[in-house]
Amino acid sequence: MVDKTSDDSPELARYARQWRYAPLGKEGQRKLLASRVLIVGCGALGSVQANTLARAGIGKLRIVDRDFLELNNLQRQVLYDEDDVAAGLPKAIAARNRLVKINSEIEIEAHVADLDHTNIETMLDGVDLLLDGTDNFETRYLLNDAAVKFNLPWIYGGCLGAEGQTLTIIPGDTPCLRCLMPDTPPPGSSPTCDTAGILSPIINIVASWQCCEAIKILSGHSEAISRTWTIFDLWDATIRQINLGKMDRAACPTCSGREYPWLSGERGSHSAVLCGRNAVQLSFPDRQSVSLEQMEAKLQPFGTVTRNRYLVRATIGEHQLTVFPDGRAVIGGTEEIAEAKSLYARYIGN
Ligand SMILES: [Zn+2]
Repeated sequence: MVDKTSDDSPELARYARQWRYAPLGKEGQRKLLASRVLIVGCGALGSVQANTLARAGIGKLRIVDRDFLELNNLQRQVLYDEDDVAAGLPKAIAARNRLVKINSEIEIEAHVADLDHTNIETMLDGVDLLLDGTDNFETRYLLNDAAVKFNLPWIYGGCLGAEGQTLTIIPGDTPCLRCLMPDTPPPGSSPTCDTAGILSPIINIVASWQCCEAIKILSGHSEAISRTWTIFDLWDATIRQINLGKMDRAACPTCSGREYPWLSGERGSHSAVLCGRNAVQLSFPDRQSVSLEQMEAKLQPFGTVTRNRYLVRATIGEHQLTVFPDGRAVIGGTEEIAEAKSLYARYIGN
């Protein structure tokens, strides 16, 4: 069998400017080519992560995202263009379409799905590392539970306004998210990109930092990771780094207590107000599949309805209902979960 990663092979040649960086080297590059990464959320952070890691030659990228594209995403979500928005594509699909043109030699798997406790173990199958590209703490605590339980490194990242933060978590070695913040912030207690806005440069910085941490770990250089909680403020032009080296993990219910309430489903809801979208997502544990053709026919009498391979969308008065094959729906035009449930019940049925 031919060694596909021999020095003069095209597989290694295209990464020459990368592996010439001495701390990485050819051996590090070979490890990257054999690595598998789960990118959770392919919006702003996830776009930059997927772009960077596809170009870097991570052997397999699995992308999971629950959302579809809108024009106001293009300001910061660098994988997408106006054609994707016009086509009403889910982000995961548009991401895969773009990534296969960037690097056809790696494997790219796209899942249009809401990552939750019922499907996370399937998504983790065969994965070496998780990257946080989400916009909510509920999913991050789920990621943290799963990462600690299954001993997988993950890299937290979050951005708002001109500020962003990141933390590299290697279970058993570094403090976890719950060591740092014992619980999720109460709903409605934090600003969102809806209320506070977001500048795209902070996303590029945080996601690029996350990718370099991933490259260190996957290439076998965990000794080089950041052991600080790093907080950037681009408007103030400051970087704060909080050393966590001496943090006591003994009090952490996740690290020490081995309790995983988000992974067990004890914590976490099935409805969510979507950041910056004036919309509510509703999903259902039984996950009955929906025929998009039937759904289109059902919604036709009520308003303007469009359908593609991935979703049906109906504009009914001031609301927009988008239904996916797993029964999940995004109800636009409201931030009230109760109103969204009522609209779902009225037009879609549950
Ligand atoms: Zn912990």
